[in-house]
Amino acid sequence: MGGETMKNIYDLTLEEMEEYFLNHDSKKFHALQLFLWLYDKRVESYEEMTNIKKEMLDLLKKDYSIDRLKVVDVQEDEDVCKYLFELHDHEHIEAVLMRHDYGNSVCVSSQVGCNMGCKFCESGRRKKVRNLEVHEMVLQILMIEKLLGERISHVVVMGIGEPFDNYDTLIHFFKIINHPKGLAIGARHITVSTCGIIPKILEFSDFPLQINLAVSLHAPNNEIRNKIMPINKVYPIEQVMEALKIYLVKTNRRLTFEYILLKDINDSVTCAEELAKLVKNINCYINLIPYNETNNLDFQRTNTVQIMRFYDILKKNNVNVTIRREFGGNISAACGQLRSKKEEL
Ligand code: SAH
Repeated sequence: MGGETMKNIYDLTLEEMEEYFLNHDSKKFHALQLFLWLYDKRVESYEEMTNIKKEMLDLLKKDYSIDRLKVVDVQEDEDVCKYLFELHDHEHIEAVLMRHDYGNSVCVSSQVGCNMGCKFCESGRRKKVRNLEVHEMVLQILMIEKLLGERISHVVVMGIGEPFDNYDTLIHFFKIINHPKGLAIGARHITVSTCGIIPKILEFSDFPLQINLAVSLHAPNNEIRNKIMPINKVYPIEQVMEALKIYLVKTNRRLTFEYILLKDINDSVTCAEELAKLVKNINCYINLIPYNETNNLDFQRTNTVQIMRFYDILKKNNVNVTIRREFGGNISAACGQLRSKKEEL
């Protein structure tokens, strides 16, 4: 059977597996057995699932492939490792492992290509080809754990793609990796980053898991943001901020704003002051990101002295601010450098 139309077993949440078994005149508890084979014992074939009846396994085999992703390349650099995966339709995506003193964190991709068109981002140079499927997101983690022989404690959905443009898949992915019988990654150890898709921010504020939300802000006003992030013309800053206020009231959580410092574009003293005003009274912290230079010569990195000046102004205005630790620049594994095309690597 061709992989294209067939669903994959790693697409299913535990609840969906239960539904499947019930719909096939079987017992609900087999779903948990199946889930444990996949996520606890981590077998890679149906044959190994010895406590599930043969007839049931035959049915499953007919309905769900158990195929994994193909690892085509692994590049390592100190405490970073970048994995290039091939998907069933021969498309490619990347995921990045970062070793921190608090654990292993994986940066996961959510789409092949991206339609958001942020001017500074390399990952978006290729238009969206398709959304990733649930199993393609789950397997990025499962396979890295296997290759590494260690557990992943933290997940950030900050790879290729706009996760809120693939919302239902994202939610399935969260349910599977967070499930205590699944990968059991704590919600507070999971972060999703969006460029600001308002309807999904609002929907996400009703999602029961305590997953962290990060928003790629990158400018303190519409004039600058329109120039570097086309999505701002659809969802302008003031409306994004309104949606985030609703999110904060509903979830009682703290937000992260990501702000890349781009030389002479958004790094002036005025910008810092305007930014401080914008986030005043909002429960958040700002993560300043030194721009990772790419082939795109329109953008340069702000120098360290100016990064510190920007940082100091925010601090003085009582904004919680950090400067992102840099990872993976040497192997093009840093923010905005991931690609979904093998030839270009
Ligand atoms: N589409 C989502 C998820 C991608 S997250 C989003 O926009 O939030 C990747 C983060 O890296 C985003 O904040 C993105 O703006 C940032 N980024 C993109 N290109 C970058 C670059 N060249 N240097 C540093 N950060 C970059």
